Amino acid sequence: MLTHQRRIDELGRIVVPSDFRQALGVKAGDSLALTYDADHDTLLMRKAVPCCVICQAEEKLHAVHGKYLCEDCIRLAGV
Ligand SMILES: [Zn+2]
Repeated sequence: MLTHQRRIDELGRIVVPSDFRQALGVKAGDSLALTYDADHDTLLMRKAVPCCVICQAEEKLHAVHGKYLCEDCIRLAGV
């Protein structure tokens, strides 16, 4: 397991260490998905993958004006 400590700046930003970026396969301009695990008081981050803007499903996606909707949400919206 890799561990680093980073100071948060005045705007809430941190620098993700280069070995973490390399391990996650992300580069400048990519998006990260952040999840707070309250049970363990831990922040998790992973490479963001396209997901439905309504339900966050990651499968059966259709791009609509640069956003993604899953087939289930499209069907529920009746469009
Ligand atoms: Zn959906």
